[in-house]
Amino acid sequence: MTVITRFAPSPTGMLHIGGARTALFNYLFARHHGGRFKLRIEDTDTARNSDEAYQAILKGLNWLGLSYDGDVVYQREREERHKEVAAMLVQQGKAYHCYTTAEELAEQRAAAEAKGEAFRYDRKWRPQSDGTALPTPPAGVNPSIRIMAPLEGEVVVRDAVQGDVCFGPDALDDLVILRSDGTPTYNLAVVVDDHDMGVTHVIRGDDHLNNAGRQMVIYEAMGWDVPVFAHIPLIHGPDGAKLSKRHGATSTTEYAHMGYLPEAMRNYLARLGWSHGDDEIFDDAQAIAWFTLEHVGQSPSRLDFAKLNHINAHYLRLRPDAELAEMIAPMLLTAGNARLMEAEVALLVRAIPSVKTKAQTLPELAEAARFYLYAPTAYDEKASAALEKNGGNLPVILTALHAVTDWNADAIKASLTELATATGKKLGELMPPMRAALVGSMSGPDVPLAMEVLGKEASITRLEAAGKA
Ligand code: GLU
Repeated sequence: MTVITRFAPSPTGMLHIGGARTALFNYLFARHHGGRFKLRIEDTDTARNSDEAYQAILKGLNWLGLSYDGDVVYQREREERHKEVAAMLVQQGKAYHCYTTAEELAEQRAAAEAKGEAFRYDRKWRPQSDGTALPTPPAGVNPSIRIMAPLEGEVVVRDAVQGDVCFGPDALDDLVILRSDGTPTYNLAVVVDDHDMGVTHVIRGDDHLNNAGRQMVIYEAMGWDVPVFAHIPLIHGPDGAKLSKRHGATSTTEYAHMGYLPEAMRNYLARLGWSHGDDEIFDDAQAIAWFTLEHVGQSPSRLDFAKLNHINAHYLRLRPDAELAEMIAPMLLTAGNARLMEAEVALLVRAIPSVKTKAQTLPELAEAARFYLYAPTAYDEKASAALEKNGGNLPVILTALHAVTDWNADAIKASLTELATATGKKLGELMPPMRAALVGSMSGPDVPLAMEVLGKEASITRLEAAGKA
């Protein structure tokens, strides 16, 4: 059997981080089994769909690197097939026409609520097993089609994550599968599409668990093989509450903008609700080799930004310097510098190794590298204090540096050490004013290394400027 999974988003918003995780699990599971991962766009709710949302979902999947197999299936285009199955069910006596109108249903619901009872359709139009005749259909009413849910016994969803989940007769209504306007309902469409697409494993959020019970009724009525269901617990915020906007970023696009790398996001999302022992960091090949449903947890996972940052930092270090420079370049533009010159990009590429280990995200990396592109226009409090205290050493330092011919960190360091010996000063008196002059603050990489990257001329210019300040 070829494993076939699918991701079935409704194009009503961004690719939510929970959706991205669902897509990832389906992707990993299919790849693990050498199967196929398909994409189906559930675009039947025309009032809520938008092309923008559809594009955002595709973009999100593409950014995450989750490539799907074959053509995208658009649910709306399959409407005729959904209707055909509804008609087949009526023909086989598994579903029936219901003439109760929407207004009548609303009245019945209101009456039940007034009595404090849960509303349920009274099955007025359901064919009776004892052959009792049904009322005569009213003229001018378009019927809906309802499926006959079992009146006794249980419907069991055998879930690979949740275990056996039982739905008794009270939990299952005679669900409308085709509305009176002739449009198929959500659960019918999902079952027919999953069946026709040959889906073997349905991996999705556990907010769909109740739907699985309803969908089982349709599978059983059609006599179709039931896929393996795996309902994964939703993602919660760091405080344990259901993930919402107030926890911060909820869409993949936002994470991309925040400077997270797609490979870090894949690694992080894979660990959100699934585990492989204590392994926190693993590459795509390992994720594919290891991913099974047995180790998907039953309790909701919590977003943990510290962990995400830690994982991102790991992948940041693995990226080539030129790529990182290119990614942070747009973050380093200013009003007066709307486009980086070739030499500036080259400087950034050379700068990356000295700042790479100081950043967890791309914006942090950009900030750590910023001083290379822009000489300080002011000195912060600590830098001013350092200049105040030891700025008097800058003239001798400059003389020593002018004499350095082979401009590299080792040679710069050697010349400063020599200067320290000759003048009886400590390196701790020479380096701080230099750092202040170069960076404008007391942060940043090793001073000789920073000067090597910056180049002799620029370094000397900055030290001279600070000496005059
Ligand atoms: N379209 C549904 C959603 O976006 C998913 C349905 C399913 O996976 O069966 O929540």
